[in-house]
Amino acid sequence: MAGRNHLYVPGPTNVPIEIMSAMNVAMEDHRSPTFPNLLTPILQDLKKVFKTETGQCFYFPATGTAGWEVAITNTLSPGDKVIIYRYGQVSHLWAQMCKRLGLDVEMYEQTWGLGLPVDKLEARLKEDTNHQIKAVLATHNETATGVTTNIGLVRKAMDAAQHPAMLFVDGVSSVASIDFRMDEWGVDAAISGSQKGFMLPAGAAILAFSQKALKATETAKYPRCFLDLTDQMNNNKDGSTPYTPSIPMLYGLRKALDLLLAEGLENVYARHFRLAEGVRKAVAAWGLTTCAQEGLASNTVTAVVVPADKDARHVISHAYKKYNLSLGGGLTELAGKVFRIGHLGDLNEISLLGALAGVEMAMLDSGIAITPGSGVAAALEYYRSTAQ
Ligand code: PLP
Repeated sequence: MAGRNHLYVPGPTNVPIEIMSAMNVAMEDHRSPTFPNLLTPILQDLKKVFKTETGQCFYFPATGTAGWEVAITNTLSPGDKVIIYRYGQVSHLWAQMCKRLGLDVEMYEQTWGLGLPVDKLEARLKEDTNHQIKAVLATHNETATGVTTNIGLVRKAMDAAQHPAMLFVDGVSSVASIDFRMDEWGVDAAISGSQKGFMLPAGAAILAFSQKALKATETAKYPRCFLDLTDQMNNNKDGSTPYTPSIPMLYGLRKALDLLLAEGLENVYARHFRLAEGVRKAVAAWGLTTCAQEGLASNTVTAVVVPADKDARHVISHAYKKYNLSLGGGLTELAGKVFRIGHLGDLNEISLLGALAGVEMAMLDSGIAITPGSGVAAALEYYRSTAQ
């Protein structure tokens, strides 16, 4: 098919040409005396993206899922109690990992479309007077439902309960695109990945740990090897890695950081908000709703609910086959009920308007009664009226 595939899944995201060019490099010796000049500034600059001065950043040749495992196995011990609310497929999978690793998982169901219930968390933590709960696990941006949880309020709830548990935050689909404040929110382990806001291929788990979490590595009893933080720390202090890193990925990450920091993080967040807001205007103009309930909508992904007698899977497969447009599917409980538009990373108004036009065509072809052009018109008017 002529023209490019239009990639609007919530990760992997489009890789900017500058990053692709930066990754097109000859291999280098990662034990050379100059390699630290590449790695050390990357680890330092990552701190700016996580907004931490006191924490430490890490790069693992893995994915976000491994990032969860790094956080768990390096700071906890088998049988430790953790608390997690299940409000989408991401938090579901994180809870499953905790169970499979033998943690004592206190998991509560939450409606998909809502975020972490901070009042309930506070009440539960207050009850836990013996401080059995060792970590609170929060998914900042639930990619499956397009819901963002206010992590500042999670921290407030933990403080109000005067509870010493660590706070682990999954920022895989928020860091580098939605406001993230590690130090201010008292996050102990922040987990992200390369293929979303960082605009890179998948293959890097990008993490930040507080001093409290790093201290916990000294007593954590999980056996660990490839994902051991201590090995990373011992090597990273001299600008090296415990094993062979992907050289192109590191050059890509260098370029991604340069692009993000040159744009300015606040501008990056504002761009994501504005683009997302246009998508939300489009959804309203179609007469449809988002899975995210009022006030919780994510700025990186929108899960659009199709009418009950229609199947969102048809919209997705048809968009791909007929219009070369990739949309995200509804996962497990949401299969067939929603399609997801990823709007993070390297995109602008025009590219997103193209995607919205493709969504309209696919919905019309799937028998969803929307007015042709209505969503595109609502989004473009919003973009015109808010253009700088
Ligand atoms: N956390 C979130 C919020 C995600 O969206 C994803 C994947 O999309 C993951 C974790 C898992 O990351 P990965 O697929 O890189 O292992």
